[in-house]
Amino acid sequence: TSNSKSKVPQEGLFPEIIRENYKGSSKLQFKKAVITGGDSGIGQAVAVHFAREGADVAVIYKESDDDAAETKKLIEKEGRSCILLKGDISKKDFQAECLDILKKYWNSFHILVNNAGIQFPKNEISSISDEQIKETFEVNIISMISFTRDCLEFMNKGSKIICTTSVTAYRGSDHLIDYSATKGAIATFIRSLAVNIAEKGIQVNGVAPGPVWTPLVKETFDDLSTFGKDNPMKRAGQPSEVAPAYVFLASEDSSFITGEIIHVNGGDFVGG
Ligand code: NAD
Repeated sequence: TSNSKSKVPQEGLFPEIIRENYKGSSKLQFKKAVITGGDSGIGQAVAVHFAREGADVAVIYKESDDDAAETKKLIEKEGRSCILLKGDISKKDFQAECLDILKKYWNSFHILVNNAGIQFPKNEISSISDEQIKETFEVNIISMISFTRDCLEFMNKGSKIICTTSVTAYRGSDHLIDYSATKGAIATFIRSLAVNIAEKGIQVNGVAPGPVWTPLVKETFDDLSTFGKDNPMKRAGQPSEVAPAYVFLASEDSSFITGEIIHVNGGDFVGG
């Protein structure tokens, strides 16, 4: 099933949320998963894959009620339930409100996917404002640490935390300077938290996507003609090609893996 939003990046490159032949094999049966930024792009694909694998999903999103309603519909089509939680994850009050509602409906949950993220259009260091730096850090990493801390109260032994970092955490980025710094911080957070809570039986891993066709890139890249062309596979990926890595990390198949990051990027060799 592919979705056909008006904000798709380019004709012929519609974001594919899940492959039609992705069967699912009950890998997440009876699980409850919370996904920040689960209404769009990679997060939406993760939400739908989790539902096809048998999980109920709570989707945290900021703005688009249309995207959220569509995601809920796709989750319910898989026979699973969906809780929609609308607000700004970087605000303490909203984080607390989410946890109150999740406690009421679910009591506890098994999977937390920290995926919400923002980036501003590419620019030179000289034109990055203090407000931009602050917002990028608050949404991408500061709130991730505090929300995860507060979620841990609702997660028991065997639970999984998965964070979305980025290829830019490793390569850097020529013009997404503050953004790539937040993604580097997320990569370090994954490793540190994994060690900190390993004895509780909770695993923490991450996914570092390379270029993926999502609304985010449409909104922040001026020229998409070269998007994804500098990796060995010479193309950007689809959300449907990234989400299975999250399924693996959320399932029992990854039972001996913690503090690791799966790179899903078409290869990141840049020459030499
Ligand atoms: P997207 O814009 O489609 O999705 C981002 C989601 O984050 C949206 O659902 C939005 O509701 C949510 N969000 C943003 N700010 C929020 C806030 N303050 N509170 C609550 N929710 C908020 O983009 P995407 O490309 O699917 O991005 C998902 C993640 O993947 C991000 O962390 C992004 O940095 C990362 N990523 C994307 C790419 C790519 O090429 N698309 C590459 C590497 C990493």
